[in-house]
Amino acid sequence: MANATIIDGKAMAADMSDAITTRTAALVEQSGVKPGLAVVIVGEDPASQVYVRNKKRTAEACGFHSVQHSLPEDSTQDAVLSLVDDLNNDPAVHGILVQLPLPSHLDEQAITQAIVPAKDVDGFHFQNIGMLTAGHLDGAFVPCTPAGCMLMIEEQLGKDLSGLNAVIIGRSNIVGKPMAALLLKANATVTICHSRTKDLPAVARNADILVAAVGRAKMVKGDWVKPGAVVIDVGINRIEVEVDGEIKNKLVGDVDFDEAAAEAGAITPVPGGVGPMTIVMLMSNTLQSAERTA
Ligand code: NAD
Repeated sequence: MANATIIDGKAMAADMSDAITTRTAALVEQSGVKPGLAVVIVGEDPASQVYVRNKKRTAEACGFHSVQHSLPEDSTQDAVLSLVDDLNNDPAVHGILVQLPLPSHLDEQAITQAIVPAKDVDGFHFQNIGMLTAGHLDGAFVPCTPAGCMLMIEEQLGKDLSGLNAVIIGRSNIVGKPMAALLLKANATVTICHSRTKDLPAVARNADILVAAVGRAKMVKGDWVKPGAVVIDVGINRIEVEVDGEIKNKLVGDVDFDEAAAEAGAITPVPGGVGPMTIVMLMSNTLQSAERTA
């Protein structure tokens, strides 16, 4: 049975969302500036459609001006770049997000880098990545998923992680690498693991803070977890389970929750952990962008 504290990302995100709504109302009243978030989606990927819908709904609930641009699957690179250019120049838009992945004929990097850094609320522009890596967090937009993970880690362990070992499994530009930069900034001793890492369980067992961002269902077992560790499960994996003789879809993380919860000091569930925090961090970045404009 679980000994661990379950980190309730849904509740944390709801509290943050309330605070953002209040700050938004104050900004509108004081300056007339209403935070604007533009989401661009290309094609029909069902998971992306769900994410975009959630982002739009949350933006509206926070009192933002929220626009969605849905482009057909066969859109040209020029058409997407032209839309990004329009949004870059639209004063009502403070944050631009292009939902990834894009259809394979499009150049994801060129499109991501076309968003002006001041509206890059996903934090994927090289300028924002550079500032984060250099430790200049004030002027940068930090990618939403690691930013949300960091708040959950801080809630458990405080802002100063001196003397603690942090192990991140996964080296993506969206999660693993920016997560490492944030943990390093907070004085943790950071190890990044990936598909070529030797004896991953042994490295993971050294972690006071273990972040799993791989995309493999229940990969992290109980005996990978140091007793008392804080475990952050970023993975979202859809698996099929049998319930009363019927096959149903279920969302699980990269961590075997039941096993890990028996060892960990604190752990995020899937769903209800990192996911809701990611969305609210997008709102936080967009509000910050609007406040800078005002
Ligand atoms: P990615 O595919 O870009 O990166 C996966 C990383 O895992 C790679 O660096 C790879 O080296 C590593 N890896 C693959 N197999 C491995 C193995 N056997 N052992 C060790 N490392 C291995 O994925 P991503 O975009 O970083 O996303 C990771 C997971 O997090 C996915 O499940 C994704 O859906 C989820 N995710 C969730 C949120 C959220 O809001 N909750 C946000 C972003 C991503």
